[in-house]
Amino acid sequence: MPESRPAPTSLSRRELLAGAAALAVPSGTPGTPGTPGTLGTPLGTPLGTLGTQGTPGTVLFANTTVVVTVDDVRHDVSLAVEGDRIAAIGTAAELQQRYPQAQVYDGRGKALIPGLINCHAHLAQTLSRGFNEDYGFPNSYQLAVSPTSLLSREEATLMAVVGAIEALKTGSTTVVENVGGTMNTAAALAATGLRWVFAESATDRVGGSPMSPEQLAKSGPPEFSQKMREEGLQRITALHSAWHGKENGRVSVFPAAGLAENSSPELLTAVRAFADKHDLGYTIHLSQSRAEVEYVRKHHGMSPVGFLAKHNFLGPRLFAAHCRYVDAADIALLAKSGTIVTHQAAMAGNRGVIPPIPALRAAGVPIAMGTDNNTTDLFEVMRVALITERVRRDDEFPGVRPQPEDVLEDATLGSARAVRQQRMLGTLEIGKKADILVLDTQRIHLVPAVRIISAWIHNGQPNDIESVMVDGRFVMRDRKVLTVDEPRLIADADRIGKRVWAAVQKQTPIVVPGRRRK
Ligand SMILES: [Zn+2]
Repeated sequence: MPESRPAPTSLSRRELLAGAAALAVPSGTPGTPGTPGTLGTPLGTPLGTLGTQGTPGTVLFANTTVVVTVDDVRHDVSLAVEGDRIAAIGTAAELQQRYPQAQVYDGRGKALIPGLINCHAHLAQTLSRGFNEDYGFPNSYQLAVSPTSLLSREEATLMAVVGAIEALKTGSTTVVENVGGTMNTAAALAATGLRWVFAESATDRVGGSPMSPEQLAKSGPPEFSQKMREEGLQRITALHSAWHGKENGRVSVFPAAGLAENSSPELLTAVRAFADKHDLGYTIHLSQSRAEVEYVRKHHGMSPVGFLAKHNFLGPRLFAAHCRYVDAADIALLAKSGTIVTHQAAMAGNRGVIPPIPALRAAGVPIAMGTDNNTTDLFEVMRVALITERVRRDDEFPGVRPQPEDVLEDATLGSARAVRQQRMLGTLEIGKKADILVLDTQRIHLVPAVRIISAWIHNGQPNDIESVMVDGRFVMRDRKVLTVDEPRLIADADRIGKRVWAAVQKQTPIVVPGRRRK
């Protein structure tokens, strides 16, 4: 990737601030934890004053359907939120008597669903929508200039916020942002109101981008850099000190090794040691391409999973992204170690792969879910996961397993386990955090909404989500995002993206591959 200075931008700081309250951090102190929105942005609403939009602390969702767990769906009940927690589930009469001051949310024709947890995202890649989906992995199109190199730091943050708001509107209440350099975007992301796991990523192979067939063909043994490793570990330490546990525990910081093919044994050891020391999860990209698997076999003499096992990186704190090209021996190692696999079904399908999820499940490997890049729509991921797993199973009597409840469980409780918050997240049981989606079930594609989980997974649309609560606060209400000025954000992102891609295409015209022309 060519080194390039960020291009001058026509976007003023004032415009950026107007576009996203999330960006309301004092200039010159990127990444400083603080009260979001305290600068009083022109158009953004300071999250700190949102509360629960009414009587602070108590909301009563009345006369509604509650998906307490995927196997416990209750109709015509009420659910009370007190502070950041689910306080009670009962009849409307009972709860109104118990919480007479509560703000009442009319739940008739609605269903409350546990917030989805996206275990693998690269938010700023929203910039590459419409480009990164159609050239394989790693992207085979050789651009003379990297699009991200044409973004200023503030523009890159804005693109990450775009990904965050898409996540919110498509049902995620928690997102694992897996990238290096989150200190630059942390304040803006925290201010969106979502729950975050910042998986700060380190790598130490010199020249290390994801392995491609071309690189593999000419590759020599990996050269590892102590300097890169130490720089990465310093970033992890600094982000953890600044952000872990902040915002009422809404922000966590985990360490990550970037990719199996780009990690030395020393890096793997250091990342795991950091997680063990601070009682955290950790993550890595694992077995995501054939080139990666062949490269690790060529230079380490074993599969990527075997390489991680040899260096004691597998284990119940690890949630490994992808595992698309794992064999029976790999699956046995993953299962024995208690490693969790996060499944990015939509991106896998996009790359033309269906990972061996049935075999992983059969071996007892816990499954979580994520989106990967370009889009952060985890709702779509659940549907693709269900369909592709049914195809991959190739059952004698197909079309029965998995069920919608299975994929919803993976995207909620399964993902909660991956981020080590299953006691707080993943279901709507009493005592858990109030991370709640309010679904409008009175939609032409959902009625009759008798078995709502199935109706929603098979036929639903993200726009069915009417409101989203995170940590007891509404961050979207009646389809209006309350933490950023969404129309402004869209306009800014579109303008910035068009400028960047015009500049990119000036140097490298983009031709769509594989199209048959008359
Ligand atoms: Zn990824």
